[in-house]
Amino acid sequence: MLGKKFTAFGRKVWLSSPTMHGEELAYMQEAFKTNWMSTVGANINEVERIAAEKIGCGYAVALSTGTASLHMAMKLADVRPGDKVFCSDMTFDATVNPVVYEGGIPIFIDTEYDTWNMDPVALEKAFELHPDVKVVVLAHLYGTPGKMNELRAICQKHGAVIVEDAAESFGATYRGVQTGRLGDYGVISFNGNKIITGSAGGMLLTDSKEAAEKVRKWSTQSRENASWYQHEELGYNYRMSNVIAGVVRGQLPYLEEHIAQKKAIYERYREGLKDLPVQVNPFDAAVSVPNFWLSCMIIDPEAMCKQVRGESEALYVPEHGKSCPTEILDVLASCNAEGRPIWKPMHMQPIYRMNDFVTREGNGRARTNAYIAGGSVGTDGNPLDVGMDIFHRGLCLPSDNKMTAEEQAKVIEIIRACFE
Ligand SMILES: *Cc1c(COP(=O)(O)O)cnc(C)c1O
Repeated sequence: MLGKKFTAFGRKVWLSSPTMHGEELAYMQEAFKTNWMSTVGANINEVERIAAEKIGCGYAVALSTGTASLHMAMKLADVRPGDKVFCSDMTFDATVNPVVYEGGIPIFIDTEYDTWNMDPVALEKAFELHPDVKVVVLAHLYGTPGKMNELRAICQKHGAVIVEDAAESFGATYRGVQTGRLGDYGVISFNGNKIITGSAGGMLLTDSKEAAEKVRKWSTQSRENASWYQHEELGYNYRMSNVIAGVVRGQLPYLEEHIAQKKAIYERYREGLKDLPVQVNPFDAAVSVPNFWLSCMIIDPEAMCKQVRGESEALYVPEHGKSCPTEILDVLASCNAEGRPIWKPMHMQPIYRMNDFVTREGNGRARTNAYIAGGSVGTDGNPLDVGMDIFHRGLCLPSDNKMTAEEQAKVIEIIRACFE
């Protein structure tokens, strides 16, 4: 419970905002001057070349958004109406919606505590329950790679294709390999709050020339090779603009610098919060190097005050020596700093509440009641699934790479005061 009063930050401390360097504008101006104000041009060619080289994949196709890229990936993976698709549960809904665009039915797989990504044990369980599934969509949350060796082995065993949502993890590696090339089809995003941004934009990553060519065709209205507009397949207008590509092109050389800044932020939080009853978001240093896109924390169950979240509002009961995400987010907001709840698991979203959800134990269920949990236990006395537990006890901290060390020290002080 908040013990002290804090004055607000003089300028807003963001969760994660764009960091521009100057070259972005030069490349946009070049597009303007050369009149390539189009979805064709040198910036697009360059960002595709640089991204493919960085990620180490054969082909990168620049598209309008990460979501559009995921949609193209669903088509490449041949998701058809009525097909069941295993999906990460604790993620942004953009991971999952493209399955539904193609008429697929998402089945959500619970999360593990070690990296906050899809749980291989729950995935194996899901294949026992639904052996016919042929596509798995998984995300690397907050820039931390998931347990890819385990997940890949399971998918291989069951003949399933992996669509890897690396929207948040551009530049992160797993066993020395960049995320985005660990599955069959990869996706990155250049949305405004990602580690590298074009204000918008995304990319489909693949080693298959044929797949890349299909996406180039589909994303530009599926024109056939004829002098008039000839169409054999459904088309989309998903190509990246050459102006946007100019921004991405100016940003790309700064990826490693941004990662270093984000890593420094993560380490300052880890150090500054270490004697509190909280943990920062975990990763396995033996196999992965995250890009540290967002620093997060999770409160130990014993240090949680009571907190209830309905469909749009949250309440908590302040208690000495304890706190909860709602309190910390409220206090940060009152000081002009932006945090965010953890992604609310998809199986708890009203739109997906009727979809199947698989935990280590087997068929899970969406729990419609709010939680008044002292720790990781629901109102009905049963333990929460892992995704709901992390959602309940966790939060994303201000992780903007323009936040100064002094500003971050104050954020840490505010969090400390919540546990007094
Ligand atoms: C941002 C994000 C997307 C979507 O990318 P857009 O470029 O915003 O469409 C998809 N998945 C995850 C996990 C994301 O964080």
